[in-house]
Amino acid sequence: MDVDTAFIRRAVELADLNGVRMALYHNTRDPALAALPVAAKLTPEQREELICKAVDWLSVNAGPGTLDEPEDSDLRMLMEMATGGPMGDLEYESRRDLPAFKAFPLMAQWENGAQALPDDFKVAIIGSGFSGLAMAVQLEQLGVPYVVIERRADPGGTWTINRYPDVRVDTPSNTYEFVFEKNYKWKEHFGRGEQVREYLLHISRKYGVYEKSRFNADLKRATFDEARNRWTLDIETPNGMETLEANFVVTATGTFANPREPQFEGRESFKGQIVHPNRWPEGLDLTGKRVAVIGNGSTGVQLLGKVAEQAAQVSVFQRTPQWIAPRDKYGVPVESEITWLLDNFPGFWNWSRFMGFAGLFETHKMVLVDPEWQSSGGVVNAGNDKLREFLTAYIKAQVNGREDLIEKLVPDYAPFSRRPVVDNGWYRALTRDNVELVTDGIARLTENGIETTDGKRREIDVIITATGFDIVKYLAPAKFIGKGGADLHDTWDAGDGPRAYLSLMMPKFPNLFMLYGPNSQPVSGGTHVPVWYIVWSAYIARAMMKMLEDGKSRVEAKQAAFERYNRDLDEEAKKLIIMRKEGGIERNYYVNQRHNRLQVNAPWYGPEFHRMFVDIAWDDLDIA
Ligand SMILES: Cc1cc2nc3c(=O)[nH]c(=O)nc-3n(C[C@H](O)[C@H](O)[C@H](O)COP(=O)(O)OP(=O)(O)OC[C@H]3O[C@@H](n4cnc5c(N)ncnc54)[C@H](O)[C@@H]3O)c2cc1C
Repeated sequence: MDVDTAFIRRAVELADLNGVRMALYHNTRDPALAALPVAAKLTPEQREELICKAVDWLSVNAGPGTLDEPEDSDLRMLMEMATGGPMGDLEYESRRDLPAFKAFPLMAQWENGAQALPDDFKVAIIGSGFSGLAMAVQLEQLGVPYVVIERRADPGGTWTINRYPDVRVDTPSNTYEFVFEKNYKWKEHFGRGEQVREYLLHISRKYGVYEKSRFNADLKRATFDEARNRWTLDIETPNGMETLEANFVVTATGTFANPREPQFEGRESFKGQIVHPNRWPEGLDLTGKRVAVIGNGSTGVQLLGKVAEQAAQVSVFQRTPQWIAPRDKYGVPVESEITWLLDNFPGFWNWSRFMGFAGLFETHKMVLVDPEWQSSGGVVNAGNDKLREFLTAYIKAQVNGREDLIEKLVPDYAPFSRRPVVDNGWYRALTRDNVELVTDGIARLTENGIETTDGKRREIDVIITATGFDIVKYLAPAKFIGKGGADLHDTWDAGDGPRAYLSLMMPKFPNLFMLYGPNSQPVSGGTHVPVWYIVWSAYIARAMMKMLEDGKSRVEAKQAAFERYNRDLDEEAKKLIIMRKEGGIERNYYVNQRHNRLQVNAPWYGPEFHRMFVDIAWDDLDIA
């Protein structure tokens, strides 16, 4: 592409200036750049100085290329410069791979050369979504044989299933991607579902996973054979049941896999159509229809605008208000200028993705209650209360100050206690003439509509149940039978719901590892799940390598370690707003409502949680 200075200037102005400054400094080591503050603190003169320096340099030096990973001390200095302050060892260790200079950051490697594997050694990965692919690519790196068992016809997991209108990621795509796939060409800053699907298919094919995957293969039961330390897997295929053996089983079955179908009274009598967004019928035409959207979580918020454009009338049923926040560049195509920068400014891809994470490095403070702040009249903590103010003002502005809506829309619990929802024009859609917000509870479905608890009946043709997922059903409905005939789900049910050691392992279930397992999703800390999938996969790989290097065949979490870990986890969880009235604990899907305990999240500060996977506590494991 022929570019002139005006084009380059436009590119730099459109770009994240933190990424620009760091890439430029990395290339030039110009001390004037080091002296500049982070982008948010630049004065207009400093901003102009930075832009001019970048334009001048790019006018002469632009071209394809990548930068090598700097030496450790240099990398740390660069990362500190990027975030504008010193970084502790704990933080540095957990973040050093985020700029992704290495080919396969975060992944485990053989330290003394590849080990000869026992005959027939094999790992079975269940699921080929983001997490299953991470594990598979990790095993590819090690040369360990594996098979991916996937019940659907294609790789991609939840992204192959979710095809509702406007489905897309709500974390920026340059952070919701694998660190080993460099400079993937996202069409929008927040990739659409269709492209995420394409991306995961691309990963599966490019890294050799596809041909090792068995599609249309549904694991029904896995049984551990104690005599041989191997798992037997019963798999349903189009040709009937098949049995397969594996030394290790890694479940990558997803947390958002089982749709939660609300069981309204009268459901069977309703003559219209009920649609779960997770099972969106192809070509569903809502033109002229009276539609109910039940739910205002990430999905309900994403699809409302498009539904309202088509339907004659939409009733939005809200049980609990959400904090729904705007995001910069949400819904915006990646500009050709930015694509050019990504291709012609070495280091820019690395540093702009690092900065994409950096905005969340300090979020842990937001999820903790600050007693001092509270005793001086604050609600939660300084940052959280400030965010609440900002979001409240945002809601008011979006609904044009309509008091009737504001009253129903502003939550009475703190931001950051639930999964943040990104606004896809949801508030604006509520101000349309054909959209109404209903906060009365649903009493029952009738033959031709919905009756609310105030006795009012609305005629409805299509009900969209954007009510989320049954996330407490980890690994279901497949059965897992461990040592002594222990059934995994019975074990969980006999206690207080799904638990694990490090979110990955259960005593009595040797050689079984769970990705995105119970209490896995870090509550804060900056890195998104695609990074964690690799961190967890690398832990599994290290445990497996140690077992092989020691000439053993079984690895299992010790009961005492499991209990200690979970005691610590419960203690840590008590500090979070999620688990308190300020965070609306009784209405939070992160919380196991039956047992009143944190279910989905890891409560620790992200870098601390990261340390647990790289600084392995070998004494917690029984390797035999
Ligand atoms: C609409 C939507 C948007 C999202 N957006 C974001 C986002 O922006 N950012 C973010 O961080 N997260 C987001 N998430 C969360 C998302 O679930 C994870 O980011 C990620 O995609 C999960 O990947 P996974 O591989 O763990 O699970 P999944 O993608 O659910 O994959 C699990 C796979 O396992 C297969 N499987 C399950 N059981 C069996 C069995 N017994 N036998 C064979 N195969 C089996 C399933 O068919 C599926 O293919 C979103 C989720 C949804 C639903």
